[in-house]
Amino acid sequence: MMKLKHAVLLCSLLTLGAIVYAQNSANPAKKSEMTKEALKVLLVTGEGYHDYEAQKTILKEGIESRLKGSEVTVWHHKTPEACKEALSKEGWADPYDVVFYNICHAKETDGSFIKSIVDVHRAGKPGLAMHCSLHSFHWKTAENEKDWLDFLGVTSPNHGAKGAITVTQQENSTGILDGHPESWKTPDGELYNIDAVKDSVTVLAMGDNHGATYAKGKKKGVVQDPQPVIWVNQCGDGKVFGTSLGHHNETVGSDEFLNMIVEGIKWAVKE
Ligand SMILES: [Zn+2]
Repeated sequence: MMKLKHAVLLCSLLTLGAIVYAQNSANPAKKSEMTKEALKVLLVTGEGYHDYEAQKTILKEGIESRLKGSEVTVWHHKTPEACKEALSKEGWADPYDVVFYNICHAKETDGSFIKSIVDVHRAGKPGLAMHCSLHSFHWKTAENEKDWLDFLGVTSPNHGAKGAITVTQQENSTGILDGHPESWKTPDGELYNIDAVKDSVTVLAMGDNHGATYAKGKKKGVVQDPQPVIWVNQCGDGKVFGTSLGHHNETVGSDEFLNMIVEGIKWAVKE
C-alpha cells in the first residue's frame, strides 16, 4: 500500500512540474528572461492606399518573434489630424528606443509640425521609414519646409507600376544584410523612383522592376532603371534605416523583408 501511495505522490509531483514548465515555456517574454535585444519599438502607421490594418499585425508579430523580449507599440492613425495630435504631444517618443514609420500622409502641409518630428530624430532618436513614408510629410509643404527629407535621406517623386522587384545588394558595411541572399525577388511590388540621395546616405541595395509600366496612356511614374530600395541615413544625431519596399502584405510578411527590418532596428539603436 505504501508503495502505491508513493507512486501516486510522485506522479502528482511530476504532473505539477510539467504544468509549471509548460506555463513558463508559453511565456518567453517574462521579464527575467529578457535579453539585451529587448527593445521598445513604436510603430506609427495609417492612412490611405495601403492595408495598414493587416500590416501593423504582420510587422508587430514579425519583429516581436525575431527580437525576443521586445515589444512593438502600435499607433494606428486613421486621419492626419489624429497623427498630428499624437506626434505633437511633449515627449511622445521618449518611452521608445526606436520609432518606425509605415505611413501615407501625403497631404500634410504643416511644416512646423513636421520639423518637430524630425527634430526628435536630430536629437538622437533612432528611426525607420518604409514605403509610403517616402511620399509623406513633404509633397505639400513649402520649399523651405522639407525637413522630412533630412530624416529620409532620399527624395521620391513617384512610383512605377505593380510588379515583382529584384533586390540586389550593393554594399553591406553596416551588416544589416548579413545572412541575406546577394539578390532576391519580392512576391509583388511597387518600385519607387528616387531622384535625389543626400550625402549622409549609404545605399545598401538597388531594386529592378524589370520595366513594369503603367497601362497605355498612363505614363506618370514609369520606372525604367534600377532604383535605391534599401539605405541608411544619418539625421543629426539620429540613425535612420529606410526602405521603399513594402506595398503588398505578401512582401511585408516575407522572411527577407522582416529579417531586414529587424536588422535595421538593431543597427539603428546601436550606439
Ligand atoms: Zn504603395
